[in-house]
Amino acid sequence: LLRGVPTLGAAVATVKRYADRFNVPFHTGDRTGLRMLNMGASIGVARFPDDDATAGELDLVYQPTFELATRHIMGAEALVRWDHPERGRLLPAEFIEFAERNGLIGVVTQWVFHRVAHDLLRVRDIPPGFKLYFNVAAQMLDDIPFIADVNETMRANPRLTEVLGIEVTETAAMQNVERSMTTIDLFRKWGISVAIDDFGTGYSSLSYLKRLTVDMIKIDRSFIMGLPADERDGAITEMLLRITDRFGFSTLAEGIETEAQATWLLEHGCQFGQGFLVAKPRPFEELLERLGVANVI
Ligand code: C2E
Ligand code: MG
Ligand code: MG
Repeated sequence: LLRGVPTLGAAVATVKRYADRFNVPFHTGDRTGLRMLNMGASIGVARFPDDDATAGELDLVYQPTFELATRHIMGAEALVRWDHPERGRLLPAEFIEFAERNGLIGVVTQWVFHRVAHDLLRVRDIPPGFKLYFNVAAQMLDDIPFIADVNETMRANPRLTEVLGIEVTETAAMQNVERSMTTIDLFRKWGISVAIDDFGTGYSSLSYLKRLTVDMIKIDRSFIMGLPADERDGAITEMLLRITDRFGFSTLAEGIETEAQATWLLEHGCQFGQGFLVAKPRPFEELLERLGVANVI
């Protein structure tokens, strides 16, 4: 079976050794073509959460979104974390792209969706107008089991209507723009708000906008970072604000860290914000505390 392995017992030991290697970070060297294997191996792909047991390793934190003029919290965004058994808490940057490329993003998305719905349903009196957004990779808008699941869950839990929202991030992995748009229209019909995430960075941002009706545009942090000093960031942000205003969509600036950024954005007509200046991503309980919501079931 395996060269140089004399007995079945030895083969089992060898296979187990290889399997174990995939559960911990290791390097294959940086030859081209090995990058994905390298990345998969370094996140411990054999451990990727894909069933009820391992899904317990996923967790959510929630970052408030606020009205710029009043700093009033109007919603929150759910952000996934993976508590890897060997590597500790991993940020999405360390595993989402890998999951998207390897057919594993569906598991994460479904888990996130159900956890967000579950958390919301524990709150008896959700503040009026409050919206909870979760991230959905654009490729999931093609995913029939996911769409069917969302439909069923919304029907079974009418309280989620007008409270849930999705943030769609476009990636090169997106296959079918037309079908994504159909799904976006469906979701909105079911009472789910839709935001376009990281706006301005994706290759199809503007062509999206041309054909799409959404509730909110989230201007990517990379344009906010340089404000107010960087003239080009300022020019791009002004242009984005003007376009989305003409289209009648709300705008939110991501990654606001300073008072100067918040002031600039307010003066240039941006309505909503999100960023460390006002709140960092924290567990659900802390979001409720900040909202002053005590009536948890
Ligand atoms: P995003 O959706 O644009 O989320 C905002 C990211 O910016 C979060 O990083 C958040 O912690 C960070 N952030 C917010 N305010 C500030 C700030 O003031 N300064 C700085 N430096 N950073 C700030 P995080 O949690 O690491 O998430 C990164 C990305 O991973 C997200 O970007 C989103 O695209 C993706 N992601 C997160 N959760 C999920 C998920 O459940 N599914 C999918 N498909 N993608 C997810
Ligand atoms: Mg997002
Ligand atoms: Mg974003």
